Amino acid sequence: ERQKLGRLRRLPARLSGGEGVELQANLELPAELPLIPQAGAAGIGLLRTEFLFINAAQMPSEGEQEAIYRAVIAAMGGDCTTIRVLDWGGEKHSDALSGIGVLGADINPALGERGLRLLLRHPELFETQLAAILRASVEGPVRVLLPMVTTVDEMKEARQIYERVARRVRRRGVKLGDTLPPLGIMVETPAAALGAEVLALEAEFMAIGTNDLTMYTLAVDRAAAGVSKLYDPLHPAVLKMIGQVTDAALRLRRPVSLCGEIAGDPLVVPLLIGMGLRSFSMNAQAVPRVKQVVRHATLDECRRLARRVMEESDPKRIAELLRAFAGR
Ligand code: PEP
Ligand code: MG
Repeated sequence: ERQKLGRLRRLPARLSGGEGVELQANLELPAELPLIPQAGAAGIGLLRTEFLFINAAQMPSEGEQEAIYRAVIAAMGGDCTTIRVLDWGGEKHSDALSGIGVLGADINPALGERGLRLLLRHPELFETQLAAILRASVEGPVRVLLPMVTTVDEMKEARQIYERVARRVRRRGVKLGDTLPPLGIMVETPAAALGAEVLALEAEFMAIGTNDLTMYTLAVDRAAAGVSKLYDPLHPAVLKMIGQVTDAALRLRRPVSLCGEIAGDPLVVPLLIGMGLRSFSMNAQAVPRVKQVVRHATLDECRRLARRVMEESDPKRIAELLRAFAGR
């Protein structure tokens, strides 16, 4: 079984009818980097950059960040690296961030100053990270991903800052090329999912973050044990959100991917393909099994599955349909 999954590494990720599917890796720590080629992932769909700040005594400088991003980009050997700017949640601790006045004192951190909101309140933090990413982008293909977006204004403000930083980096002699690395958004709040169409006009790509989207849609804390039974990414309300974002992205021709935990679930991926998604980012270890499932499915059967699932109102029934599909 292990060997069989190992052989999959070199086989293309495509449906049995030949349609291509992109399987990328989520990366939380640079130490996981060797897992990516081992798993046969096609680049990084989500590089979480919180590791640079967690337990850091001092703010990582522009140069330090640049060196780390460069190493990651170089290791991808021409495949794209999607770097998400800091998604600080308030409940994590960092002396470095406290040192510059980022305290995370919100009563409800998930609804407070988190993700892009925090970066816009602390532009020096945001600008340093963007400059480091832009400098590193000469090393290979890069995309920049903004976390926890809820309004078009935030997106516009972020883009202004991005372009200003790019001008500064260029003035300092870095050859960035005519077009900057694409700037995209995480769709992980109901506001972003329901407003995907207007946000897509400002975003060059979209990444659906179902971990938070599930939490915010169902009003269930993703980390709270007491309500963990209610935390269900297959709840029809969450699936409707995913479907709506996917439709909007396809209509506006924006690349869209899904990078929450369900992207690595071999039971769920056929449903997501049937809903129109073709790009998934997951823990590297999940890639071979997902590839195997993709290679054995046809687009028609995925679409039929999605139609049936979307008619269901009971999450338990949905889970049954997915299991039945896997055992077909
Ligand atoms: C998500 O919310 O689905 C996501 C991919 O981001 P994170 O898990 O880092 O919040
Ligand atoms: Mg998230």
